[in-house]
Amino acid sequence: MLTQPRIKFLYTEPDSLESRVGNTPLIRLKRLTDDLPSSVQVFAKAEWLNPSGSVKDRPALNIIHDAPNSGKLDPTHQRLLDSTSGNMGIAYATFGAARGIGITLAVPANASPERLSILKTLGAELILTDPLEGSDGAILEARRLAQENPERYYYANQYNNPANWQAHYNGTAPEIIEQTDGQVTHFVAGLGTSGTFTGNGRRLKEFDPGIQLISAQPNDSFHGLEGLKHIPTAIKPAIYDETLADDNISVNTEEAQEMTLRLARDEGLFVGVSSGAAAVAALTVARTLETGIVVTVFPDAGFKYLSERFWNQSQGEN
Ligand code: PMP
Repeated sequence: MLTQPRIKFLYTEPDSLESRVGNTPLIRLKRLTDDLPSSVQVFAKAEWLNPSGSVKDRPALNIIHDAPNSGKLDPTHQRLLDSTSGNMGIAYATFGAARGIGITLAVPANASPERLSILKTLGAELILTDPLEGSDGAILEARRLAQENPERYYYANQYNNPANWQAHYNGTAPEIIEQTDGQVTHFVAGLGTSGTFTGNGRRLKEFDPGIQLISAQPNDSFHGLEGLKHIPTAIKPAIYDETLADDNISVNTEEAQEMTLRLARDEGLFVGVSSGAAAVAALTVARTLETGIVVTVFPDAGFKYLSERFWNQSQGEN
């Protein structure tokens, strides 16, 4: 019954790298749902298949597209500036390189070495911020730079920029509706900037107010769920809409890591830890159902996290 998407992502030239953003497959979790009735199905949107390797291609491209056209960024003498813990920066740097737009990023100094290398390779200028201050420290540094150098920078501000969630409202959510023949009943996503959750959630509720929206976030301010935020203790993203979620699930780092390994070993899905967290939350929801189609988002692949130790501390060390 499920179909793969035919919706063209917005505003791209044919044959461009950008035209490959979006239209990602929806992959069913099979072995991890063996214990569930066949009337309950769980699917993940395979966002690591975007050109720069993550879900953030969608908002980055939308923000870049929005900026020059609305006169907010003049690439001849301005650079795009933002704070990021990695994926958004990689997406900006990818499309910035292809369009000839300079990219400056405030990044916590403890971002994984793989990520920092990718960003440098793509030509981004990096401003490393205090690791102890996490992504909030990077936000504050980007704000400071933007205020001090308004001529030099277009501050894209992904936490505050409607083009972030709108990329999902106009792209990801219509794809999910089409791929499930409109039968999706539950949508589950982790919260970082909250763009994925907010954009998809708004569109899905408009399509069918009965669709349940469940956000997933770390259970603690100190966590290892790269890309996700513990909203109660973090700088709250301006685009975060706290009225949207029907429910919220807290996930701890260890269970997300364990699930990440299971996704690799039981489903062949080599994804990052925030995908593990999304899977924990999606399966928690699925276990409460007698019938339903649960859709979640797997934001990126595992490659950028290989320096983390948990990969080797697994069930299957044999
Ligand atoms: N997972 C990863 C790996 C990410 O990089 C991000 C983006 N910060 C997210 C999840 C959360 O996505 P969003 O910013 O749309 O909430």
